[in-house]
Amino acid sequence: MNAYQIEQADTLDMVCRHFGTISPQKRLALLSQISDYLLFRDAVDAFLREHFENTCTQNCYQSRVSACCSREGIITFFGDVVVNALVSGEAEIKGLATVLQTPNTGFKCIYLGEQGCLWRIKPIVCEMFLCEQAQKEVFGLKSWADKLWQELKRREKLYRWPDRPVLFDDLERYFMARGYSSPLMYLHNSPGLLRVKKRARERKTSK
Ligand code: SF4
Repeated sequence: MNAYQIEQADTLDMVCRHFGTISPQKRLALLSQISDYLLFRDAVDAFLREHFENTCTQNCYQSRVSACCSREGIITFFGDVVVNALVSGEAEIKGLATVLQTPNTGFKCIYLGEQGCLWRIKPIVCEMFLCEQAQKEVFGLKSWADKLWQELKRREKLYRWPDRPVLFDDLERYFMARGYSSPLMYLHNSPGLLRVKKRARERKTSK
């Protein structure tokens, strides 16, 4: 296992261990907390299916030159792990844990299986990635779809960009308050994101 796999595996294990200790009511409360985000993800999925499925299937999956999923380590936020663990079944979690224990010998994401991504709710960075070629092909013909995409990108920030209270920050705080810590808690340990928070606080106090 490389360092990337270890931090991913440790975080997944930590989150799942915690979920094993909470009551069904608490789990429901957490599910309710992420419900708006899940609706947002449904909206993004529907958009991608409608506008990009053909282009991506033709350009990437058939020709096998996909740029998405071909990097060995992609950014996953702690919130990504929490959301996915909350909605995944035991077998899906086991599948993730298993690939994280397996040496990655290819030049592709460790989570890419035969049938595609092994995450039920894939990391937000992956979900919002559209390669330039696909964007040119689709948005060149449908500029109105580009406007919809920009709106989805604006909505994405409302969950993970900490210039205001956001879900991904709350999820990190929830676990931190219970004594957990993970290098994937970027909203609490990335210098860039901490600066975003600081600037937002300064703006608020100067009003
Ligand atoms: S996590 Fe899933 S969607 Fe993201 S790069 Fe890996 S296989 Fe692709």
